[in-house]
Amino acid sequence: MDVTITNIRKEFGQFPALHDVSLSVGSGELMALLGPSGSGKTTLLRLIAGLEQPTAGRIFFGEEDASLKSVQERHIGFVFQHYALFRHMTVAENIAFGLKVRPGATRPPTAEIRRRVSDLLDMVHLGGLEKRYPAQLSGGQRQRVALARAMAIEPTVLLLDEPFGALDAKVRKELRRWLKEFHDRTGHTTFFVTHDQEEALELADRVVVMSQGTIEQVGTADDVYDRPNSPFVFSFIGDSSSLPVSVKDGAVLFEGRRIGIGDDGPDGAGSIFFRPQDVAVAEDGDALRGRVIASRRLAGTRIAEVDISTNGTGHHIEIEVPLEAPVTVGGEIRFRLQHWKLFR
Ligand code: ATP
Repeated sequence: MDVTITNIRKEFGQFPALHDVSLSVGSGELMALLGPSGSGKTTLLRLIAGLEQPTAGRIFFGEEDASLKSVQERHIGFVFQHYALFRHMTVAENIAFGLKVRPGATRPPTAEIRRRVSDLLDMVHLGGLEKRYPAQLSGGQRQRVALARAMAIEPTVLLLDEPFGALDAKVRKELRRWLKEFHDRTGHTTFFVTHDQEEALELADRVVVMSQGTIEQVGTADDVYDRPNSPFVFSFIGDSSSLPVSVKDGAVLFEGRRIGIGDDGPDGAGSIFFRPQDVAVAEDGDALRGRVIASRRLAGTRIAEVDISTNGTGHHIEIEVPLEAPVTVGGEIRFRLQHWKLFR
């Protein structure tokens, strides 16, 4: 089912939690809603579910205006961060619950319910655990039961609100891969709230980057990482440094020094943004210089934090340096800026 959100605004009292949000999602797309705390991700999800009513704007499921429908009529599958399983019901009963209370549908015969539960258990790779109670499952298994229960109603749209947020890093990674595969198999239009950018970039067909109640950018992982359209997106996704600069005759100047050439925009002031890997360590005479303030080892590389100001303004940038390069904290480093993006 494709979903179209048009000019949604949501106010809580005087507080505008979402301003003029519009988004078109194709049938079967896996969309990540990514943004800092308070940016409006959960509010958008709750509006799609019908748990909140918009102050203005509409939400369409296919051609139909979902704004006029109740939560039940929307047939949404919902999974929250804290698995809301019924503790006194077995895994099978939890999943069957969705089938038995399906709104608008007559309750299927018992044999049919049993067969559907068994299919759903296979789908989430939990065959054999149907008689267990939630307390006898791991966190990752519980979230898969929650997902099976959400799928039992044959949802038009699947909404996942930080479903792996309460799990440890390793399980989270496993479930991420599993969810991707699950989505590819079942093909439900899915909205997935996360504040973990790695999760968003790895999982989603497209990422919706949100900030302060607005959508900053919608695009593939490559779009938002390689072609961020605003300083916010550039600094929110991945590691980056920024410097205030001026542009004159195509040269990019920082504190009067030329740090890059080839900008074809007009002269004026702005800020450049770049990633640690956009800076190359260089030895020759016209390379830029800075002082290493700190260095940290990552798996296959090292990141040096470098003070490049000449007059004590304290502008620091991060440079990726090869492990074998000699880097001493307090020492000088020479480098060249290879790529950057200028925002005016
Ligand atoms: P988080 O990552 O922390 O869950 P979020 O991006 O999901 O954040 P929302 O929960 O959508 O953010 O909240 C957006 C803004 O709306 C926040 O400033 C929040 O305080 C406010 N807000 C959300 N729900 C309500 C409510 N019921 N009443 C008043 N304000 C609310």
